[in-house]
Amino acid sequence: MSKFTYASDNKEFTVEIDSSLLEDCFLECNKSSNYETGGILIGKYNDDMRTAVIRSVSKAPSDSKIGKMSFKRGIKGLIDVLNKKWDESGEYYLGEWHFHPNNSSQPSGTDVRQMKELSRHKRLKCPEPILLIIGGNSMVGWNISLNVFQNDAVIELYRFK
Ligand SMILES: [Zn+2]
Repeated sequence: MSKFTYASDNKEFTVEIDSSLLEDCFLECNKSSNYETGGILIGKYNDDMRTAVIRSVSKAPSDSKIGKMSFKRGIKGLIDVLNKKWDESGEYYLGEWHFHPNNSSQPSGTDVRQMKELSRHKRLKCPEPILLIIGGNSMVGWNISLNVFQNDAVIELYRFK
């Protein structure tokens, strides 16, 4: 297993994700073929509060709405998953991931709007949600984008390790 690290240009914000979790996402994307899919990111911040460590990724809840150019994540079962993670290991919601089949991994205007809404979501208590997008397909290869949404700013993170 290898760990990937993504950071903002000024290195103020860092995200760590294990390659095995990305492999899990790639599998889901492959199954989803020409349709979008996705889920949530779960983990915790390091003590410095600048490094988010993603420890698990969920699949698409069964009430998600999926299209070829759209994905609206459902909520079915997620509360139970999050409660369990919190009780077992103090992990919590960090953000979202989804798939852009045969396309660029850059966030769309809708993606940006949705993430800004999530950042203001009272019950989620996640003012700086992370968005992981996987683009492409297994034939041409996958491309990944990672952005964090902070006070209405969209900060792109780049892989450096
Ligand atoms: Zn999208």
